[in-house]
Amino acid sequence: MPAAFCIFCDIVQGKAPASFVYADDRVAAFMDIQPVNAGHLLVVPRAHASHLADLDPHTGGHMFRVGRELAGALGASGVRCEGVNLFLADGEAAGQEVAHVHLHVIPRFRGDGFGFRFGPDYGFVPKRDNLDQTAAAIRKALEN
Ligand code: 5GP
Ligand code: ZN
Repeated sequence: MPAAFCIFCDIVQGKAPASFVYADDRVAAFMDIQPVNAGHLLVVPRAHASHLADLDPHTGGHMFRVGRELAGALGASGVRCEGVNLFLADGEAAGQEVAHVHLHVIPRFRGDGFGFRFGPDYGFVPKRDNLDQTAAAIRKALEN
């Protein structure tokens, strides 16, 4: 249950307006209100989960499956779409603004002006030892 007001809970429950493109018993997908490009969609689980760690894994898999279908539909819809970004911001530091998990499906075209901004250390190629150490730490975390 959401601790406080949640706009995406309201939307999937029909208590707030949205322009839907898809709905089933586990997820709904609708137009982003402030699109990066025309056709920008959000796939949203019906059950509130603030972050990825709270999300039922089967629902997460389904969310991705629906995102993939929608990416295909965008390409056939007449919306300007030369490519698609699937994007999920998990946590404020990653750019999450709405604390209810959602997958962005963003139609892209050359010159649309959207893109990631890289940090000052980007371009630095770590030594293999360093990559191996980090990989080992992540493998260990996976075991727990
Ligand atoms: P985030 O930064 O959390 O990954 O993305 C939140 C997204 O939700 C933004 O792209 C924003 O435009 C969209 N959004 C925020 N409020 C609403 C709303 O009330 N309706 C819809 N359809 N989209 C919303
Ligand atoms: Zn919610």
